[in-house]
Amino acid sequence: MEVSVLIPAAGNGERLGLGPKAFLRVGGKTLLEWAVGAFQEAAEVLVALPPGAPVPKGLRATFLEGGRTRQESVSRLLEAASLPLVLVHDVARPFVSQRLVARVLEATRATGAAVPVLPLPDTLIRPEGEGYGEVVPREALRLVQTPQGFFTALLREAHAYARKRGLSATDDAQLVRALGYPVALVEGERAAFKITYPEDLPLAEALARVWNA
Ligand code: C5P
Repeated sequence: MEVSVLIPAAGNGERLGLGPKAFLRVGGKTLLEWAVGAFQEAAEVLVALPPGAPVPKGLRATFLEGGRTRQESVSRLLEAASLPLVLVHDVARPFVSQRLVARVLEATRATGAAVPVLPLPDTLIRPEGEGYGEVVPREALRLVQTPQGFFTALLREAHAYARKRGLSATDDAQLVRALGYPVALVEGERAAFKITYPEDLPLAEALARVWNA
């Protein structure tokens, strides 16, 4: 795969409270090992680590120091990317299938930017104070996952624009949208969920036992 995979892994895992997620172990492997393993076919893998973190041994990846925010970490990785296509993938999502990567890449080649999305299974509301409030139609909404694919030049331009305008974003596709370019949607996967809360860990352990993708 002629693609640079960018893995922002420099977060300190505050919500989980177990230290940087990159080094959290699931099914006997760190989340970083899972993420790098999912992109074995990629020509280049670049990882942003928390400042001062030990550089992991035995992984086929290049390591950089991350920034203060996810966006800054991705900006640094982007500067180092040497191929015309990038896939940006959060280290907190260990279960990435080859099918998911293939779908994202295909749509990226066609559109210049593509992200996996999922419909929402639950009823959604906008609470009023402590009360139930108003229902938000879930049919109109999607959850956005990673890996997200981009023409490298487009994502660089989007990050430069965001820096100039002081925009901050939780993913990269929204910066491309801010620049005014389209982002294609492909079908996401429930297994590619983001390990965020302590309850996610036993789910991840269970999935690790049967994961074969
Ligand atoms: O905190 P959140 O779950 O949004 O983080 C998403 C991803 O961004 C994680 O993989 C995390 O390691 C990464 N990150 C980063 N640099 C930061 C903050 C978060 O690479 N300063």
